[in-house]
Amino acid sequence: MSHPDASDAGRNGREREERQLALIHRIARLGTQPLPLRQKLQQIVDLLKQHLDCAFVACAAIDLRQGRFRCEALASDLPSAIFVGYGRELGSGVVGEVAVSGRTLHVPDVSLHPNYVETLPGARAELCVPVRYNGETMAVINAEATTAGAFGDCVDLLETVAEQVAGLFAVDRLSDEQRQRVELLGMLSDLSRAAIEADGLDEVLYRIVHFLRDRFRLESVGVLLADTTAADKLRFSAHAGNSVFHGRSGGDWPATLGVIGRAFRSGQAQYVPDVIEDPDYVLGNPAVTCEFVLPVRARGQFLGLLNLEAVDPECLSDSNRQMLAALAEQVSGALHLAVTNARLREINRLVEEKSAALAQANLRLRQANELLERLSHRDGLTGIANRRRFDEMLVTEWSRAQRHGHSLALLMLDIDDFKSYNDGYGHVAGDEALRQVARVLSAALGRGEDCIARYGGEEFAALLPHTTLVEALHVGAHIARALAHLALPHAYSRAAPVLTLSMGAAALVPQGELDPCVLVDQADSALYRAKSQGRNRIETPPISLHSRVANAAK
Ligand code: GH3
Ligand code: MG
Ligand code: MG
Repeated sequence: MSHPDASDAGRNGREREERQLALIHRIARLGTQPLPLRQKLQQIVDLLKQHLDCAFVACAAIDLRQGRFRCEALASDLPSAIFVGYGRELGSGVVGEVAVSGRTLHVPDVSLHPNYVETLPGARAELCVPVRYNGETMAVINAEATTAGAFGDCVDLLETVAEQVAGLFAVDRLSDEQRQRVELLGMLSDLSRAAIEADGLDEVLYRIVHFLRDRFRLESVGVLLADTTAADKLRFSAHAGNSVFHGRSGGDWPATLGVIGRAFRSGQAQYVPDVIEDPDYVLGNPAVTCEFVLPVRARGQFLGLLNLEAVDPECLSDSNRQMLAALAEQVSGALHLAVTNARLREINRLVEEKSAALAQANLRLRQANELLERLSHRDGLTGIANRRRFDEMLVTEWSRAQRHGHSLALLMLDIDDFKSYNDGYGHVAGDEALRQVARVLSAALGRGEDCIARYGGEEFAALLPHTTLVEALHVGAHIARALAHLALPHAYSRAAPVLTLSMGAAALVPQGELDPCVLVDQADSALYRAKSQGRNRIETPPISLHSRVANAAK
């Protein structure tokens, strides 16, 4: 039979162990609940204070970057200077000491501890354990009691709880990273869309700088692109926010100047946590406290820099800078595309400009050619077809008539006594008379296929397709009537007191080896007959010529 004291002690030990396990189990269960970290910590400090039966338990998170710790949760029976959000520098007091050393500190009697900072009047003992994860002290848990040496056998338990709390901190940090990653993905896609929807380089840049400024609450965002013409210069290409460099948009930024210049020369991102401390910093806005300059590269080629300035250092925190670096990668693709497109557009514009000029020149050339062509076919004085055109038409109509077996007629018309007209009325009046005769002829020969030409001097020729000799005589008579109607006075004519024409008419169906000249010869002979028979008349070729032609055609 065992000693009653020993069995009491054993029972007490087991009870204590069971209570401890129950506490650890409850804390473990808490960890799985979907609560914010602060709420979980609050429940844990409540449980701990109850379990330890002490006056005060708190949990403080450590902010290494700011060099401070901050109370996240506390449970206290006594009035205390501590509250949630209360903070001090690392190193200060027992909590501060543990935050720095990362080792448990048990102070059985606070009056004997030189670094003790009183925040809980009446406290006698303090136990403080670090919450460590991956070698980093993330928080501390501390307990205070009004009895000296109260925590003598609590170190193991509190260290175990601290390990559990470390797990909670780690999970929280992970989910924080997860959230940031999701946010970053969202931003990446927003930024890509903004860049894709933009029209032209300037708009891409505009959207990028405004996007970054708004999303990261930055004081100013600038894009400086590499100058393609000068290796030692950057061009201030877009800007959003407050900075005196607003006015520099479109201006140059020398490679030697500022943190920007340093990033440009080194090709490395430059983070300046406190601009006052940086000798290179160029003041653009006195409110700015920190600056981050990120090189932007696409396929290894340096495109330019993003210059980011903030008033609140949190805007350029570690995680924000990581996100910004990831966004810079995204920007590089969009920028590369926009820069390339801008160059392409410029080339296209030049090509279009040159093409338009070429088209204009071609048009003028065509117009000039047409004019030349028309001029080469027109008689300068009368505007009707010239001799060259007549010769061409004769060949064309001759072969057409030959193909279809049609009769082709020709009228040769010569102004009577025109030499004396000139002599009597002057050369200028002579020219005018020529024009008038040409008009009468054109009007009289209304058919589109007929060709009226100035054959030479005061002589005209009318080529009449599908026309027999008899029909040609009718046409001639019609012309004579029209001219008589015009009644241009000609006091020096032997034929009549008005301007008259002598006409020779000929017509034949082209056959065999006959040459078109035959038709001209016939009409000419007929004209000669008209002249010799007294002028102001129309004649046909002499019979002898008819039979000669008939023989040749056989
Ligand atoms: P005929 O009745 O026998 O034809 O006598 P004609 O005087 O008309 O013939 P001739 O061949 O002797 O003279 C033709 C005249 O036509 C000579 C020339 O001064 C005139 N002539 C020829 N071409 C032009 C021209 O372009 N302008 C002017 N004003 N006169 C011209
Ligand atoms: Mg004449
Ligand atoms: Mg003549």
